[in-house]
Amino acid sequence: MLSNAEHVLPTALIVDDDYVMRMLERETLAQFGFDVLEAADGEQALDMLDDPPPDLLLLDVEMPGIDGFEVCRRLRQRWDMARVPVIVVTGMDDLASINRAYESGANDFVAKPINWPILGHRARYVLRSAQAARQLSELKEKQAAIMRAIPDMIFVMDWQGTYLDYKQGYATTAFVPASELLGKNMAAILPAEVAKPIQQGIELALLRGHLQTVLYKLPMPDGSSHHYEARIAPNGVDKVVIVVRDITTQKLNEDKIRRLAYFDTLTGMPNRQSFLERLDHELARARRNHHQLALLFLDLDGFKRINDTLGHSAGDYLLQAVAERMKEKLRAGDFVARPALDESGLHVARLGGDEFTVVLPDVDETHTVSMVATRLQALLAQPFLIGTQEIVVTSSIGIALFPADGDDAATLLKHADTAMYHAKDQGRNNWQLYHQSLTTQTTARMALETDIRKGLEQGEFHLLYQPQVSAADGTIVGIEALIRWQHPQHGMVSPAQFIPVAEESGQIVPMGEWVLDTACRQIMEWQLHGVLTARVAVNVSARQLRSPHFLDRVAAIISETGIRAEQLELELTESILMDPESRQVQGLCRLRALGVHFAIDDFGTGYSSLSYIKRFPIGMLKIDQSFVRGLPNSANDTGIATAIIAMAHNLGLEVIAEGVETRQQFEFLQQAKCTKLQGYLFSRPLPPDEVEILLRRGSITPPSDHTAK
Ligand code: C2E
Ligand code: MG
Ligand code: MG
Repeated sequence: MLSNAEHVLPTALIVDDDYVMRMLERETLAQFGFDVLEAADGEQALDMLDDPPPDLLLLDVEMPGIDGFEVCRRLRQRWDMARVPVIVVTGMDDLASINRAYESGANDFVAKPINWPILGHRARYVLRSAQAARQLSELKEKQAAIMRAIPDMIFVMDWQGTYLDYKQGYATTAFVPASELLGKNMAAILPAEVAKPIQQGIELALLRGHLQTVLYKLPMPDGSSHHYEARIAPNGVDKVVIVVRDITTQKLNEDKIRRLAYFDTLTGMPNRQSFLERLDHELARARRNHHQLALLFLDLDGFKRINDTLGHSAGDYLLQAVAERMKEKLRAGDFVARPALDESGLHVARLGGDEFTVVLPDVDETHTVSMVATRLQALLAQPFLIGTQEIVVTSSIGIALFPADGDDAATLLKHADTAMYHAKDQGRNNWQLYHQSLTTQTTARMALETDIRKGLEQGEFHLLYQPQVSAADGTIVGIEALIRWQHPQHGMVSPAQFIPVAEESGQIVPMGEWVLDTACRQIMEWQLHGVLTARVAVNVSARQLRSPHFLDRVAAIISETGIRAEQLELELTESILMDPESRQVQGLCRLRALGVHFAIDDFGTGYSSLSYIKRFPIGMLKIDQSFVRGLPNSANDTGIATAIIAMAHNLGLEVIAEGVETRQQFEFLQQAKCTKLQGYLFSRPLPPDEVEILLRRGSITPPSDHTAK
């Protein structure tokens, strides 16, 4: 069977009771390319409709039985025969018969006597036009189906914007009912700011002959707005078809995506990406206008501690509150006096964590920048209320200027960050301008970190020991272990130089463990030699104390080396006193229960809340050497030293002064009832064997003159 219908000849069914007529008709149609079937009466014709179905019927009217009209009528009742072309052949050429033929569903009419060549052409023509009609109606059905499936509104308009036709898409909200649209001009229906671009789109589409797109927004009766995209296609020379899609949801999604991509979800502030783009943009502008621009990099001080002690949700809340305050105040005119900074330029963003940036474009005086930094710090220093708790956060700010400190966003950001770290080093709660030397410092610092790591691996560190004596009689009552670094290239490096770096990089943890272990072994050794009567103090930095395994390590080292816990004293920094609720307190109490002693080093230099001291298992305060230095002449230092000593006695604590270099200092401290002393006047820090000699003697008599060594 042929699959392609076009190659099959059309089938004509000839229905006539006259055999001769059938023959003549058959000849004619065969010549015109038809496959011919024959039926001798109406009954037979109806029986033959199915196999195969004819493409054309040539139907005689007067036949015995069912006549031609009736055949035609019954044929049309079948759905599959409704469109088959039928030519009625009859001798009757009166008007009534012709009408009857058409009424019963005939397509054409041929009167006898037949003009045979014309019959052939007619048959072909009728067949063609029936095919065309069928295609047209199929097309219409298809189009109707497509229209039903399209969510968009479809308008037909003339070139002046008059509605000619309209179809409401299933997914769009009717702006105006169709009945009110047709025949009207859109200028009378749509707001001018919408009608105008559409009219322009129509004119362009007709002029250029291709599709134009117009985006617009319409207010809805319920007060909301809908977004639309109109695609205008030319339709002939003076009409257009406009397909209008409601893109409101798409727009909302785009907005959401933009928000996610450009805004920080916690604070709603612009995020790093948005900040970098904005900075690029502002830099280009500053370059064009030869203006200076400032980038402020702000980091909250001690945010990690807030997070650790109060929990992450409190931390999040604080960040939100900080962001809120910054947004509100920086935008408002009262913060930055120059009006140029209020509007467009000033840009605040959160880079992540507790890091924020502020971009100040067009600042031609550095004074403006410092003013903003100072005000920003003052603004944040006002207490925040978290739950019922008032929290004061300070911040450190680094500032980099364009063009002096960098030409592109990445460099400026890096330098502002470096300056911020410098501000942290300077004791936090301050701002610093970037300076070239900071980068050199950073590089040097990184080199130092690497060297420390190597130094630890290769045993370049050792300990010296400095005796502590009783103020009454010079008896050695303690020994402080102090770390030393013999650097292969730089010689002796001071702990004041490498301890802060080791703290920052975290290397203080393994380093501190090494110190503790070495000091404990030394204790064992002196004990074996039978000389140890004093306890040994080891410095512990804040970072070390925070490390989660610290307490376990101390306990382990004590038991591994076999010393008695009472022989060990840990010198802590004052900063631990700031947080009396911390878990560290319990840990320290556990070690204290084992016997370990605790002292607060460099006392008086921090901002410790003295009221908290009693909650810690502290046994001794060490008066910082900066207060000893001015004794006995500086009124300030004598005041502080005396106060610390009195307070220690009140609290039942021991007190030791460190950095005692002169006889006068010694005598003053003795009179002030400071019980213990440490300093060059008695002994410098010494290697273990030299300390052993002193320990054998048991006490140190300080020289009577000023030449203490
Ligand atoms: P610190 O714990 O307050 O130690 C006292 C410092 O004062 C020592 O400096 C000591 O050598 C010095 N000193 C002692 N007597 C006198 C004196 O009469 N005059 C003067 N001008 N100085 C005196 P050093 O050894 O350079 O240590 C500095 C700081 O480094 C220490 O201060 C301590 O905070 C830290 N440090 C030293 N060793 C360690 C350690 O093993 N671990 C930790 N975490 N920190 C350490
Ligand atoms: Mg110390
Ligand atoms: Mg000290």
